[in-house]
Amino acid sequence: MTRTTHPDLESYRLDLFVDEDEVLRSVMPEATAAGVPGISVSADAGKVLHLLARAVNARRILEFGALAGYSGIWLARALPPGGRLISLEVEEKHADLTRRNFERAGVADRAEVRLGPALETMASVEPEGPFDLAFIDADKENYPGYLDFSLRHVRDGGLIIADNANGHGHAHEVLEPGDGRRGIQTYNRRVAEDPRLVSHILPVGGWLAVSVVGRREG
Ligand code: SAH
Ligand code: MG
Repeated sequence: MTRTTHPDLESYRLDLFVDEDEVLRSVMPEATAAGVPGISVSADAGKVLHLLARAVNARRILEFGALAGYSGIWLARALPPGGRLISLEVEEKHADLTRRNFERAGVADRAEVRLGPALETMASVEPEGPFDLAFIDADKENYPGYLDFSLRHVRDGGLIIADNANGHGHAHEVLEPGDGRRGIQTYNRRVAEDPRLVSHILPVGGWLAVSVVGRREG
């Protein structure tokens, strides 16, 4: 029989590379105990976000949808001194929890939450751009609107990333009009076809659609 060091390949991969500290480990269990839905990115996806932010030397990051700050902490910890993360959140309870978790995670000096519907508050962050990375993870029907904003305010060579690109497992289906997940389908098609972007989906967690801004010809 073959001897193994880990129960399976997946735990081998995650144990080696996904390093959650005490704060990250406690954010979602505490949030769900307080009645917040358990819909953050996975630790696996959090590490991918952190890695991608480091890869583009992100100094300014814009997040759509904070929840309890889980993904925000992974992203903020990729920032250099003087870097900035702004996270847009519509629910006051989520915004408060995120602020508290940014404190606990030691990133409150560089990470802030702005309360309100992101389609409205995003205008207020314009002067703080251009951004190196936009992470889209708020209400799914408005993904195309968040993409339009990100295309205008993410620098050349920066990244636009969207979570839940698999449409909660339904992105390949013909969906009813009014189904919010159609926003994700529109988003995926647009980033796949936009000549200003090089895009692909990383099938981690609920899938991350990753787009690099600025296509080179030839
Ligand atoms: N990025 C988080 C999860 C976000 S869940 C993480 O991975 O840790 C989606 C969040 O978007 C929820 O907190 C929800 O309240 C927020 N949201 C929903 N509609 C919104 C809107 N119109 N504007 C801003 N935030 C919104
Ligand atoms: Mg998500």
